[in-house]
Amino acid sequence: MSKNGISEKYEIVIGLEVHAQLRTQSKAYSGDSTEFGVAPNSNVSVLTIAHPGTLPRFNEKVLEYAVKMGIACGSEITRYNVFDRKNYFYPDLPKGYQITQDKTPICRGGAIRITLPSGQEKDIALTRIHMEEDAGKSLHLAEELDTLVDLNRAGVPLIEIVTDPILRTPEEAYWYLTEVRRLVRYLDICDGNMEEGSMRCDANISVRLKGETAFRTRVEVKNMNSFRNVERAIIFEAKRQIEAYEAGETIKGETRMFDAPTGSTYSLRNKESLNDYRYFCEPDLQPVIVSEEYLTAIKSQMPALPRELKEKFINQYGLSDYDANVLVDIKETALYFDEVCKSLSTPAQYKAAANWLTVPVKSYLNEQAIGMEEFTLPASKIVELVKLVESNQVSFSIAAQNLFPALIADPTAKAEEKAKELDLIQTSDIDAITPIIDEILAAYPAKVAEYRAGKKGIIGMFMGELRRKTQNKVDPKTASSLIEKRLEEV
Ligand code: ADP
Ligand code: MG
Repeated sequence: MSKNGISEKYEIVIGLEVHAQLRTQSKAYSGDSTEFGVAPNSNVSVLTIAHPGTLPRFNEKVLEYAVKMGIACGSEITRYNVFDRKNYFYPDLPKGYQITQDKTPICRGGAIRITLPSGQEKDIALTRIHMEEDAGKSLHLAEELDTLVDLNRAGVPLIEIVTDPILRTPEEAYWYLTEVRRLVRYLDICDGNMEEGSMRCDANISVRLKGETAFRTRVEVKNMNSFRNVERAIIFEAKRQIEAYEAGETIKGETRMFDAPTGSTYSLRNKESLNDYRYFCEPDLQPVIVSEEYLTAIKSQMPALPRELKEKFINQYGLSDYDANVLVDIKETALYFDEVCKSLSTPAQYKAAANWLTVPVKSYLNEQAIGMEEFTLPASKIVELVKLVESNQVSFSIAAQNLFPALIADPTAKAEEKAKELDLIQTSDIDAITPIIDEILAAYPAKVAEYRAGKKGIIGMFMGELRRKTQNKVDPKTASSLIEKRLEEV
């Protein structure tokens, strides 16, 4: 048994389909707004519901975002794109079809590299990425007999990112989704919130005996609203299929729904009744041609991606792999750090800046329950803090505890002036510290004797006293060597 209680005899085969809702202002094939949270059915013109006589018009932003994703994944970009109608009946699809891409997905191939917690890396090969539109939403309210339909989402652009059947563990699926979310956020093409439905995942799952070369029948599982639930669904489904095979049964190709409260899946429909979408070329839209110039222009607009930034942080700023990983986890933090480093020049300063972001800034954001995008202190203030601590004028702990919040409250103030104003400047002035040390040594003759008898550790107690007497405003290096010196001399 492996750690998830899955028999070691079997291997799980997983392919994921991720729908990412694109952050465009208008819909994929009409000028209707994509604004979220407005009154139901208020972003719905005759175009969204394809009344007779209306013609769809392609939103070029959709192409731009899809191409950006393809470039980020190293996919081949399709130059001649046609749209297709995928026909099916559903109350939240008043057109009776979805405009999608069947034969000519905008991106083919490419891969997304994931890093597992063990540090092991794996390239998750992509089959394709295609552009399509979302359907509306059916609402089954408890107090209503009828199903309500909100068409605001109908026509909102999506890209569907499809992997090869190459994932092998629930954990890999989890880290793949984490990486997809990070990529779309760095590219600024989707907000990546799975809980809110702007990123959705269907998992195709089959199992086979280890060493077997052919794939077995897959089951498609829908309705997971978090990465954890995708993992749970895969674990449940793998166990269910293994049990069936062990009992001599077969698995039928079907679509199943995940039920979060029980962590189980149940059958929705079988594949036979599912697959007749009668795809045909969308007659109302012209083919979209991606020219060389267009591709070059989009390539030149690509933002820095997490892997590139991580390498830069390691190679250029000398950070550890661990620190670099923590910093690139969230785009806004990575860019902020990079901004801070532009005004710094030594590895020690870069490391100090990394500490500022990963410790005090991070705890401040946690306390305030805000994200880095809402952090108001300008990067130049972190630069000032790094330099102030480096020059021994303020200790890091005092700067983090007192000066940092004071600067957040008064961000136009200079860090050094604020430190003076708050009386936080520490002294490394020997003439000022020596009398205080002598006072302490005089007050504890027994301890001094112990020190002289060889109990060198007692120096920590003297340091503590000094810190208390000076409100922690002595430079610790100067102070400890001075205490040692006085202990030898006095
Ligand atoms: P459909 O349109 O029916 O969903 P696709 O060709 O789009 O079919 O494939 C969907 C997903 O199923 C892909 O991610 C693919 O990797 C995955 N897949 C295909 N065969 C298997 C299998 N035997 N086991 C697990 N996943 C599979
Ligand atoms: Mg599918």
